[in-house]
Amino acid sequence: MSRSAHPAGPRHADVLTEGHYTAPPADLNALDPKVWAHTVTRNEDGVVSVGGIDVATLAEEFGTPAYFMDEADFRSRARSWRTAFGHDADVFYAGKAFLSRAVVRWLHEEGLNLDVCSGGELTTALSAGMPADRIAFHGNNKSTEEITKAVESGVGRIVLDSFQEIVRVAHIAQSLGKRQRVQIRVTVGVEAHTHEFIATAHEDQKFGIALADGQAAEAVRRALALDGLEVVGIHSHIGSQIFDMAGFEVAARRVVALLASVRDEHGVELPEIDLGGGLGIAYTSEDDPREPHEIAKALNEIVTRECEAAKLRTPRISVEPGRAIVGPTAFTLYEVGTIKPLDGLRTYVSVDGGMSDNIRTALYDAEYSVALVSRASDAEPMLVRVVGKHCESGDIVVRDAFLPADLAPGDLIAVPATGAYCRSMASNYNHALRPPVVAVNDGEARVIVRRETEEDLLRLDIG
Ligand SMILES: *Cc1c(COP(=O)(O)O)cnc(C)c1O
Repeated sequence: MSRSAHPAGPRHADVLTEGHYTAPPADLNALDPKVWAHTVTRNEDGVVSVGGIDVATLAEEFGTPAYFMDEADFRSRARSWRTAFGHDADVFYAGKAFLSRAVVRWLHEEGLNLDVCSGGELTTALSAGMPADRIAFHGNNKSTEEITKAVESGVGRIVLDSFQEIVRVAHIAQSLGKRQRVQIRVTVGVEAHTHEFIATAHEDQKFGIALADGQAAEAVRRALALDGLEVVGIHSHIGSQIFDMAGFEVAARRVVALLASVRDEHGVELPEIDLGGGLGIAYTSEDDPREPHEIAKALNEIVTRECEAAKLRTPRISVEPGRAIVGPTAFTLYEVGTIKPLDGLRTYVSVDGGMSDNIRTALYDAEYSVALVSRASDAEPMLVRVVGKHCESGDIVVRDAFLPADLAPGDLIAVPATGAYCRSMASNYNHALRPPVVAVNDGEARVIVRRETEEDLLRLDIG
């Protein structure tokens, strides 16, 4: 196989119809700190390490594919959200991004609260010792069993998502002799995507209750009338991977307007507003996320200003970052299996995982970066598509990226910023064994979620 024949460089831009790359980076060995976890560095011998342990050692001990999570980085990001919002606000980590018992303990220790959206997530959170009153329960179709468990265990709030649920939760709480704290999730008519947002009168989506046509006000009216519920606030979540604060501004303004109308109608000032999550992270060097303190400052200013204008007491604000805390803290380590140059097109690099450990590229056309991490290389950049081993041509991990042209089977490559929505969305497609999550900290590596085994697969198959 002649590698010199590999298509490389921008002269092939014409074939990249849906691709997104500009030019090869100046230095393929460089690791952009924006997309890699804090302790990731390339050592003098060219091998990359995290938490003081090099990837060759990690691959040897834990195998590939595997997710390696920088615990110190996770804690520091959690702490900076906590610090940025201070004691007059709450930070709920969105557990759906990635949840395990170790993560629950880190969050607890760092003073964060936790969002869950299923019975499974709730059980995980409680079993790792998160106090129930620091848990919020979400979802657009919570089952009776889930609601019962949430109310019985004393979760701090349930976020109500429909008219049916208002009655359902009230009924369950009352039958358990409890009064459940709830927020009402509204759709504010803002759709945010990355660098832009669209303000619409009506949002065509399954979550929440629309503000626009008075539905949300009606939901508050009904909830206030039910003995089983204590309505503590209004919740809004406008999207994900957002960089532009303008969408939050519109959302906050509309939520505060609802608080004002609730006060006018019922004489009640609801004490909380939750502005959701969705803050963007850098998947590639082109993304420029904001720091938690900038986000906190912007949100606080908007809410304070709107409340002053409406003559309302400023409610307690909460936010729900998931990706922004866990996303950048982990990378996925793969071993290169085959390399297939397609003349005039691109080079396909197949790794030992794929859409079973990262579905986001196939699902959302998500962008990722990739680097050769088991050695440094001075070879020319080669335009590649990193693909998995699954029986699906959409099984793409990184759509367009540059790797050194001397890449060879057996090399280790890593995809950064896979801490969020990768392990949590992992599947057993093709009976793949879901990879482990290994926490690395200060020279020590510890499996926090173990690799699945074939026994695990067969245990479910009882036919
Ligand atoms: C998904 C979700 C979040 C977290 O979103 P990120 O993009 O991970 O920050 C927060 N709140 C709600 C209600 C969500 O559905």
